[in-house]
Amino acid sequence: MEVPCVRAAREDGETVRELLAERALLDHDHEITVADGRIFIPVTDDEEVSDEYTVVTHDAPARETQVMPADVLGFEPTYERLGDVVLVDEDDEGRAERIAAAVMDSALPVKTVLNRASKVTGEFRTREWDHLAGDGARTVHREYGCEFALDIAEVYFSPRLATERHRVTEKIEAGERVVDMFAGVGPFAIPAAKRGADVVAVDVNPVAIEYLRENARRNGVEDRIEAIEGDVRAVAADYENWADRLVMNLPHSADEFLDAAVRLAGDDCLVHYYDIQHESDPYGPGERAIRAAADTYEVTVETRQSVRSYAPHELNVRLDVRLRA
Ligand code: SAM
Repeated sequence: MEVPCVRAAREDGETVRELLAERALLDHDHEITVADGRIFIPVTDDEEVSDEYTVVTHDAPARETQVMPADVLGFEPTYERLGDVVLVDEDDEGRAERIAAAVMDSALPVKTVLNRASKVTGEFRTREWDHLAGDGARTVHREYGCEFALDIAEVYFSPRLATERHRVTEKIEAGERVVDMFAGVGPFAIPAAKRGADVVAVDVNPVAIEYLRENARRNGVEDRIEAIEGDVRAVAADYENWADRLVMNLPHSADEFLDAAVRLAGDDCLVHYYDIQHESDPYGPGERAIRAAADTYEVTVETRQSVRSYAPHELNVRLDVRLRA
């Protein structure tokens, strides 16, 4: 099909393509072609192309593959997808904006692009975000057959941990009694309930609990989940000696909640304990803290799992620990 193209010497092709991409003039619906040692780069608006370039009409086949951000940028950007929100972590403002423009210009079904503006902080473990494109931060994210509505500016959620969550939840059996002590919007609690467990899900962040209730309804498990807003230390008294399984996903300070965990634990209880520690001894501090808190139980470490690298020399790990009365 005949379309307007910038014609350039073949060796200048990449530079010209990048300049056109920066000005959002690339026509992603047609292929770049080469003929007689020259490159023909399809453009969306020939009148916007600067006079220093030659625009001609040229035969360019329709593009069959979908345009991805890397096609627009000419390099592979790093980003995470959370429903129709894209999350980036860029210190250089100009680069962040170029990536956001490329994401919006690509075939990805995205409505908002956010850049990390702070670390995860505070009791609710949330972070600040800069809006690079679009507005709002509410979305519906899907993983392993579950739907999670959430607003990433208001609650904690990490799409990167999907595989880790699945590793834990796929072992849960129908009829188990599970307490998710730091439940967020429910990425452990909801799959657990879908597997037939009876779940108590606690979080101190009222917005997270609102989303958790919505997510329980969305996934058809509202009858299996008791969502409780509050400090899990206060809630523990109501479910003393109740749980077959505990999920403790509050790395950095889970050790402060081991007394509550021991209260919640039934006579045979598996605890999934997340921690962040130096790579020289990633499991030792957690194991020692659990043994000290659960000194009336027989304590067996069933799994030591490295989840991901958290920072240089620091690991995010999981201990699966069986407590038997
Ligand atoms: N489990 C969820 C997930 O994987 O997305 C959330 C994990 S996030 C790291 C920890 C959560 O613990 C946050 O949602 C925070 O609000 C909650 N939290 C912090 N202190 C708490 C407490 N004392 N009692 C209950 N929840 C608490």
